Amino acid sequence: MDKNKVLVFATQNKNKAREIQGLLPSYIEVKTLSDIGCNEDIPEEQDTLEGNALQKAEYVKEHFGYDCFADDTGLEVDVLDGEPGVYSARYAGPQKDSEANMDKLLEKLKGEPYRSAQFRTVIALIEGEKKHTFEGIVKGNISTERKGEEGFGYDPIFIPEGETHSFAEMELSEKNKMSHRARAISKLAKFLDQ
Ligand code: IMP
Repeated sequence: MDKNKVLVFATQNKNKAREIQGLLPSYIEVKTLSDIGCNEDIPEEQDTLEGNALQKAEYVKEHFGYDCFADDTGLEVDVLDGEPGVYSARYAGPQKDSEANMDKLLEKLKGEPYRSAQFRTVIALIEGEKKHTFEGIVKGNISTERKGEEGFGYDPIFIPEGETHSFAEMELSEKNKMSHRARAISKLAKFLDQ
């Protein structure tokens, strides 16, 4: 890849972009959607994480011409055949309420002894004509009740394999050592730095 390269991260979330900038080679400048004047809602209409990540990256490439990457994440619960998966953000409805999402999941798993699950992140990269995807997974279990105040989303009810604490009981730096997103970003960073 060229040195001194601009890469758009298809997100409006400046914190996410800053976090990723810190993990990528320093000659890559990460721009957000607002940095390139894209203030529209990018469609995410696919029924897979891969499909959504690619759709977002393709939209930016097509409408703005930049090389770009986009991510999509889901919590996949084994006994629910991968639910909520690609619908994780809006599991309990379009208001995207994390508390309601956790309530719905805990209710569905009530009395269920098999509680294994994984967070999975897919990052799609479009570089010129080429498309690549990178996957990061962390396996764990869904607890029976919320624990911890840190993090976001399903963190209070997700206990990573080999740990006794939920993601919401961990400092961000500890979560980042094992998280799905960190693993996918690390694969992207390695690819970009070849
Ligand atoms: P996104 O693709 O990063 O927007 O993630 C979609 C949804 O998955 C979020 O709205 C959260 O509900 C859930 N999610 C993603 N990453 C995490 C995480 O690290 N912890 C807890 N929930 C997450």
